[in-house]
Amino acid sequence: MKLAIEAPPLHTLSIAGRDERFPVNRVFCVGRNYAAHAREMGKDPDREPPFFFMKPAAAVVDAASPTAVPYPPKTANYHHEIELVVAIGRGGRDIPITQALDHVYGYAVGLDMTRRDLQLEARDKGRPWEFGKSFSLSAPVGSLRRAQDIGHPSAAAITLTVNGQLRQSSDIDKLIWSVSECVAYLSEYEALEPGDIIMTGTPQGVNAVVAGDLMRGDIQGLSAIEVRVTG
Ligand code: MN
Repeated sequence: MKLAIEAPPLHTLSIAGRDERFPVNRVFCVGRNYAAHAREMGKDPDREPPFFFMKPAAAVVDAASPTAVPYPPKTANYHHEIELVVAIGRGGRDIPITQALDHVYGYAVGLDMTRRDLQLEARDKGRPWEFGKSFSLSAPVGSLRRAQDIGHPSAAAITLTVNGQLRQSSDIDKLIWSVSECVAYLSEYEALEPGDIIMTGTPQGVNAVVAGDLMRGDIQGLSAIEVRVTG
């Protein structure tokens, strides 16, 4: 095939212990999936159906080794959100909850970095969230651990420190919508494709970082990430 312009870059993630890499297709993000975080955002954590927003593949930053992201433009309130990341290996639509995990290739630690001021302004005006959520380099993701190697974690401590100080601490067993439920629900609206990833939402404790800060994200049993914010 002859392309009219230079092909856009393929965005990929590292896979722990493997030479091959995981090609990223679409990034789906779940909103308010921990009750304590919904409350801190001023929302009622009743078990309403999950809702999703998206980031482009270009948002993904390979954070398999310590990495840096630039402080983004047009914000004065750049927030960390530590999240369990689910990588889809096999596509499908209308996936039953009981089969949802068969579609999961693996898991990673990720950050849904957010220009909170822009997101909240958009939210409150009923506008889309893209400028607050979907900017380039807004999703550092660590090395993927394959489900065939580690299984499907349903309980694990999830923490984020900034400069060594604990900011976010919870357990993925507090997800309002489980991984299986998110995969099944999403696949009713959009046929999932290999390479899609799902960021499953953040627990309470979101807060701002500034240039120079070092974020460390951990989920028990997965590969930790270290991301420094540069000026
Ligand atoms: Mn999030």
